[in-house]
Amino acid sequence: SIKPTINPIEFDRTTSNSVISTTLNDLSNWARLSSLWPLLYGTSCCFIEFASLIGSRFDFDRYGLVPRSSPRQADLIITAGTVTMKMAPSLVRLYEQMPEPKYVIAMGACTITGGMFSTDSYSTVRGVDKLIPVDVYLPGCPPKPEAIIDAIIKLREKVARELYEDRVEPKQVKRYFTRKHR
Ligand code: SF4
Repeated sequence: SIKPTINPIEFDRTTSNSVISTTLNDLSNWARLSSLWPLLYGTSCCFIEFASLIGSRFDFDRYGLVPRSSPRQADLIITAGTVTMKMAPSLVRLYEQMPEPKYVIAMGACTITGGMFSTDSYSTVRGVDKLIPVDVYLPGCPPKPEAIIDAIIKLREKVARELYEDRVEPKQVKRYFTRKHR
Protein backbone atom coordinates (compact mmCIF):
# COMPACT_ATOMS: atom_id res chain seq x y z
CA SER A 1 0.00 0.00 0.00
CA ILE A 2 1.20 3.54 -0.70
CA LYS A 3 -0.13 4.88 2.56
CA PRO A 4 2.01 3.90 5.56
CA THR A 5 0.12 3.07 8.71
CA ILE A 6 0.02 5.71 11.41
CA ASN A 7 1.42 4.40 14.66
CA PRO A 8 -0.22 5.72 17.79
CA ILE A 9 1.98 8.29 19.52
CA GLU A 10 3.05 7.33 23.02
CA PHE A 11 3.32 10.29 25.35
CA ASP A 12 6.20 10.40 27.79
CA ARG A 13 4.99 10.85 31.36
CA THR A 14 8.23 9.96 33.12
CA THR A 15 9.98 13.32 33.21
CA SER A 16 7.60 15.22 35.45
CA ASN A 17 5.82 14.30 38.65
CA SER A 18 2.87 16.66 38.31
CA VAL A 19 -0.34 15.16 36.96
CA ILE A 20 -1.65 18.58 35.93
CA SER A 21 1.50 19.67 34.12
CA THR A 22 1.87 16.34 32.31
CA THR A 23 -1.78 16.41 31.26
CA LEU A 24 -1.50 19.98 29.95
CA ASN A 25 1.79 19.10 28.31
CA ASP A 26 0.28 16.07 26.60
CA LEU A 27 -2.73 18.07 25.46
CA SER A 28 -0.53 20.83 24.07
CA ASN A 29 1.78 18.35 22.33
CA TRP A 30 -1.16 16.43 20.88
CA ALA A 31 -2.57 19.66 19.43
CA ARG A 32 0.80 20.62 17.97
CA LEU A 33 1.64 17.29 16.39
CA SER A 34 -1.86 16.97 14.97
CA SER A 35 -1.76 20.30 13.18
CA LEU A 36 1.73 20.95 11.88
CA TRP A 37 1.36 23.53 9.12
CA PRO A 38 4.34 23.53 6.75
CA LEU A 39 5.51 26.62 4.93
CA LEU A 40 5.67 26.14 1.17
CA TYR A 41 9.41 26.42 0.68
CA GLY A 42 11.19 24.82 -2.25
CA THR A 43 14.28 26.01 -4.08
CA SER A 44 14.97 23.16 -6.51
CA CYS A 45 14.22 19.58 -7.52
CA CYS A 46 13.48 18.18 -4.03
CA PHE A 47 10.36 20.32 -3.92
CA ILE A 48 8.81 18.28 -6.75
CA GLU A 49 8.67 15.30 -4.37
CA PHE A 50 7.28 17.47 -1.59
CA ALA A 51 4.63 18.92 -3.90
CA SER A 52 3.41 15.43 -4.81
CA LEU A 53 2.43 14.92 -1.16
CA ILE A 54 -0.19 17.62 -1.42
CA GLY A 55 -2.26 15.61 -3.93
CA SER A 56 -4.75 12.89 -3.11
CA ARG A 57 -2.33 10.04 -3.89
CA PHE A 58 -0.39 10.51 -0.66
CA ASP A 59 -3.11 12.34 1.25
CA PHE A 60 -0.81 14.64 3.20
CA ASP A 61 -3.73 16.30 4.99
CA ARG A 62 -4.59 13.23 7.05
CA TYR A 63 -1.73 14.21 9.39
CA GLY A 64 -3.26 17.64 9.88
CA LEU A 65 -0.65 19.21 7.61
CA VAL A 66 -2.03 22.17 5.73
CA PRO A 67 0.58 23.88 3.52
CA ARG A 68 0.76 27.63 4.10
CA SER A 69 2.14 30.42 1.96
CA SER A 70 2.83 32.77 4.86
CA PRO A 71 5.47 32.11 7.54
CA ARG A 72 3.14 33.80 10.05
CA GLN A 73 0.74 30.88 9.67
CA ALA A 74 3.33 28.08 9.60
CA ASP A 75 5.06 26.16 12.38
CA LEU A 76 7.07 23.79 10.17
CA ILE A 77 9.49 24.47 7.37
CA ILE A 78 10.69 21.64 5.14
CA THR A 79 13.74 23.02 3.38
CA ALA A 80 13.38 21.28 0.02
CA GLY A 81 16.29 21.97 -2.29
CA THR A 82 19.60 23.72 -2.53
CA VAL A 83 20.10 26.77 -0.34
CA THR A 84 22.35 29.31 -1.99
CA MET A 85 24.30 31.97 -0.15
CA LYS A 86 22.13 34.58 -1.80
CA MET A 87 18.97 32.81 -0.60
CA ALA A 88 20.24 32.20 2.94
CA PRO A 89 19.27 35.57 4.49
CA SER A 90 15.74 35.15 3.11
CA LEU A 91 15.48 31.66 4.62
CA VAL A 92 16.62 32.99 8.00
CA ARG A 93 14.11 35.83 7.78
CA LEU A 94 11.27 33.42 6.92
CA TYR A 95 12.25 31.23 9.86
CA GLU A 96 12.31 34.20 12.20
CA GLN A 97 8.84 35.23 11.07
CA MET A 98 7.36 31.85 12.02
CA PRO A 99 5.77 31.80 15.48
CA GLU A 100 7.09 29.54 18.23
CA PRO A 101 7.02 26.61 18.63
CA LYS A 102 8.43 25.89 15.19
CA TYR A 103 10.20 22.98 13.59
CA VAL A 104 12.55 22.31 10.69
CA ILE A 105 12.95 19.25 8.48
CA ALA A 106 16.08 19.39 6.31
CA MET A 107 15.13 17.57 3.12
CA GLY A 108 17.67 16.18 0.68
CA ALA A 109 21.43 15.93 0.33
CA CYS A 110 21.79 19.49 -0.97
CA THR A 111 20.07 20.94 2.08
CA ILE A 112 21.85 18.74 4.60
CA THR A 113 25.43 18.93 3.30
CA GLY A 114 25.45 20.94 0.11
CA GLY A 115 25.13 17.68 -1.86
CA MET A 116 26.79 17.82 -5.25
CA PHE A 117 27.76 21.41 -4.45
CA SER A 118 29.58 20.51 -1.23
CA THR A 119 33.02 20.86 -2.84
CA ASP A 120 34.39 23.76 -4.81
CA SER A 121 31.22 25.82 -4.69
CA TYR A 122 31.37 29.40 -3.57
CA SER A 123 27.60 29.89 -3.85
CA THR A 124 25.96 27.09 -1.85
CA VAL A 125 25.34 26.79 1.89
CA ARG A 126 26.87 23.48 2.95
CA GLY A 127 24.27 22.47 5.47
CA VAL A 128 21.13 24.39 6.33
CA ASP A 129 21.83 23.74 10.02
CA LYS A 130 24.50 26.41 9.74
CA LEU A 131 21.59 28.85 9.46
CA ILE A 132 18.63 27.47 11.38
CA PRO A 133 18.22 24.64 13.92
CA VAL A 134 17.15 21.36 12.32
CA ASP A 135 14.84 18.88 14.08
CA VAL A 136 14.82 16.03 11.54
CA TYR A 137 17.33 15.26 8.78
CA LEU A 138 15.87 13.56 5.71
CA PRO A 139 18.64 12.29 3.42
CA GLY A 140 18.22 11.33 -0.22
CA CYS A 141 18.49 12.78 -3.69
CA PRO A 142 15.62 13.31 -3.78
CA PRO A 143 13.85 11.64 -0.82
CA LYS A 144 10.67 9.87 -1.94
CA PRO A 145 7.29 11.10 -0.71
CA GLU A 146 7.05 8.05 1.58
CA ALA A 147 10.36 9.13 3.17
CA ILE A 148 8.97 12.63 3.76
CA ILE A 149 5.97 11.09 5.52
CA ASP A 150 8.38 9.02 7.62
CA ALA A 151 10.27 12.22 8.58
CA ILE A 152 6.99 13.84 9.58
CA ILE A 153 6.11 10.82 11.74
CA LYS A 154 9.54 11.14 13.42
CA LEU A 155 8.91 14.83 14.02
CA ARG A 156 5.49 14.03 15.49
CA GLU A 157 7.16 11.56 17.86
CA LYS A 158 9.64 14.26 18.88
CA VAL A 159 6.87 16.79 19.47
CA ALA A 160 4.98 14.22 21.58
CA ARG A 161 7.99 13.92 23.92
CA GLU A 162 8.54 17.66 24.34
CA LEU A 163 8.15 19.33 27.68
CA TYR A 164 6.59 22.76 27.95
CA GLU A 165 9.65 24.03 29.84
CA ASP A 166 11.86 23.12 26.90
CA ARG A 167 10.01 25.58 24.69
CA VAL A 168 10.25 28.60 26.98
CA GLU A 169 13.50 29.83 25.45
CA PRO A 170 12.98 30.49 21.72
CA LYS A 171 15.35 28.78 19.35
CA GLN A 172 18.15 31.06 18.28
CA VAL A 173 18.85 31.48 14.61
CA LYS A 174 22.54 31.17 13.97
CA ARG A 175 23.95 34.54 13.03
CA TYR A 176 26.01 33.75 9.98
CA PHE A 177 24.85 36.90 8.31
CA THR A 178 25.01 40.42 9.58
CA ARG A 179 22.05 42.78 9.29
CA LYS A 180 23.91 44.56 6.52
CA HIS A 181 23.70 41.39 4.39
CA ARG A 182 19.95 41.07 4.87
FE1 SF4 B 1 17.93 18.13 -6.38
FE2 SF4 B 1 19.05 15.92 -5.29
FE3 SF4 B 1 19.71 18.34 -4.40
FE4 SF4 B 1 17.28 17.39 -3.91
S1 SF4 B 1 19.20 16.55 -3.11
S2 SF4 B 1 17.77 19.48 -4.57
S3 SF4 B 1 16.87 16.21 -5.78
S4 SF4 B 1 20.11 17.53 -6.48
